[in-house]
Amino acid sequence: MAEGAAALASALASWPSLAQRLTGQPLAIFLDYDGTLTPIVSRPELATLPPEVRKLLGRLAARFPVAILSGRARDNVAPLVGLDELIYGGSHGFDISGPPPETGEAPLRHEVGEGIPAQVEGAAERLSAALADIPGILVEPKRFAVAVHFRLTPPEALPRIEREVDATVASFSALRKTEGKKVFELRPRIAWDKGAALRWILNRLPPSSQSRVPIYIGDDTTDEDGFEAAQEAGGVGILVANAPQPTCASFLLHDTREVEVFLTRLAELA
Ligand SMILES: [Mg+2]
Repeated sequence: MAEGAAALASALASWPSLAQRLTGQPLAIFLDYDGTLTPIVSRPELATLPPEVRKLLGRLAARFPVAILSGRARDNVAPLVGLDELIYGGSHGFDISGPPPETGEAPLRHEVGEGIPAQVEGAAERLSAALADIPGILVEPKRFAVAVHFRLTPPEALPRIEREVDATVASFSALRKTEGKKVFELRPRIAWDKGAALRWILNRLPPSSQSRVPIYIGDDTTDEDGFEAAQEAGGVGILVANAPQPTCASFLLHDTREVEVFLTRLAELA
């Protein structure tokens, strides 16, 4: 049931009861990247991870599996984080790769959607050409999606940008339009999302005898599937937001700084 973020309990204020619930449990940590680990910036390439957060993720990963589920392409987000021991789900979880869950096992690998990368490439070419004259526009082709960033474009250009996005979706049948923070994204028409990626990863993590408790932290509409999947699996969904917004997450963190504090507490959990 969606409710306003204002009604959500702070994950930090609720820490005593959360700690009691999570202590001694085999956790699995799922994190969005932009707006969750790094503040939202005007251009995606500027969202670099602070060294102290990288160190913190390394400490967490020494205790629990840590997965980054990002809208970025996997080969884009993985170097930004720069830790081989993490699991990376790029393109909203369409492209998953990680170290072997247990010694002697094969590395984690899952790729959803055959034929999608070719359609993505075609759509990106069409959009780049159609929108080339709009100042500040950024068409970002990824392996499984095309992002059209309009954070830096004049507001009056928006109707034209959206028309071109709609026309592109109409001519590439495998893709559909989604919307995020100042970005349109053309994503595959496949029932797969960050929630499905969370379930896929969770099913492959040891110990098989006991289910892991997933914790999902994210800030955008695409993270709602992650909150839902985490909570259905008996875990915790935490929205990063400084203003009320509809969500199915059960807790709130106000900004990336609070995320860092929360992750520090998880890393130090008894
Ligand atoms: Mg985000």
